[in-house]
Amino acid sequence: MSNKNLHKGVNTICTHVGQVKDEQFGGSVSPIYPGTSYEYIDKDIDRYPRYSSTPNQEFLSKKIAALEGTEDAMIFGSGMAAISTSLLAFLNSGDHIILQNDIYGGTRNLVEAQFNRYGIEYSFTKGLEVEHFEEKIKKNTKAIYIETPSNPLLKIVDIKKVADLSKNHELISFIDNTFATPLIQKPHSLGIDIILQSATKYFGGHSDICAGAIAATSKHREIIWNLSKNIGGSLSDYTAWLLERSMKTLSVRFFTQQKNAVELANYLKDCQSIDKIYYPGLSSHPGHDIAKEQMDGFGAVISFELNKKIDPKKFLKSLKMINPSMSFAGVESTMLSPAETSHYLLTPEDRLSQGITDNLIRFSVGIEDVPDVVDDFEQALNNCR
Ligand SMILES: *Cc1c(COP(=O)(O)O)cnc(C)c1O
Repeated sequence: MSNKNLHKGVNTICTHVGQVKDEQFGGSVSPIYPGTSYEYIDKDIDRYPRYSSTPNQEFLSKKIAALEGTEDAMIFGSGMAAISTSLLAFLNSGDHIILQNDIYGGTRNLVEAQFNRYGIEYSFTKGLEVEHFEEKIKKNTKAIYIETPSNPLLKIVDIKKVADLSKNHELISFIDNTFATPLIQKPHSLGIDIILQSATKYFGGHSDICAGAIAATSKHREIIWNLSKNIGGSLSDYTAWLLERSMKTLSVRFFTQQKNAVELANYLKDCQSIDKIYYPGLSSHPGHDIAKEQMDGFGAVISFELNKKIDPKKFLKSLKMINPSMSFAGVESTMLSPAETSHYLLTPEDRLSQGITDNLIRFSVGIEDVPDVVDDFEQALNNCR
């Protein structure tokens, strides 16, 4: 884009970068190009949906690269398509990867269920410190994978330390940046190679899009792209168009959600029916200092532990506005019990080892007026104050 330098702030990038120009009618929004067949004579781009090179796919990637501050980006049909394709693009049979212990369940399942079949070795760390990653390095270690803040306890890993460790040992570093988004966390500037996003979450933001993205240097992007053409997890142009439209309001939505989350975390921390609260913005959170250093905010997800006297199922059912539902990051507030949903397949002991009790609730804060959300808590918990 010739006027790229004009687009610096994240709000401006969200609104303007990555727009497909409507040359024919001068419309203010991107046209949709759903074609699967494009002229090829004398063209230097081979445009095809599975190659992620149609106009809508290509331009949406520019918006994501601009937000993450990377040379390049690429979109996928889901967050897991982005994650699996990226990992398999760099890992060969005989290679070893080190992963943070508490990562997204789907990613953990991909590693545990599939990697043995490809002869890829893996280790999960014991904890969150850089030493916990370092102690797992072996001769055949090729990559390190982190997710910060993590799901559901919003644990924080020092990104720069892990990036430096990776560089010193010539490893490829990956981060799942879904919880923070590039609006408040730019891991590439801290030295991480491959940034992964489930665009199903904040990028889409309306609980109606399934998509994924990677951001990286052009060199790394090409390695991932080469495998993606074989695997075929591309995003349809209709959804690419809708995602680009949705991302115009990403910053407005996310910053409102985050502002509400700060207010609600402060309300919930004094609530008598709540025993423990996890929000990186609270000084009581173990990762608060690192989060303050490496993030420009603390995100919009809060987890909390209900008092043992309260039945979590009953609590979720008694909510009138907040929806007990899977997934997160939509404009509407939602809640779930990780023990009943995302971490159901783990044994209670494994759950407890990660700090996940039966009374833990993950709360994705929406854009509603905070007093209305508080009212819902008050009626469900019989006087939280
Ligand atoms: C949802 C999620 C994913 C997977 O994304 P899909 O779009 O569902 O495939 C990966 N990482 C994190 C942190 C997520 O929340």
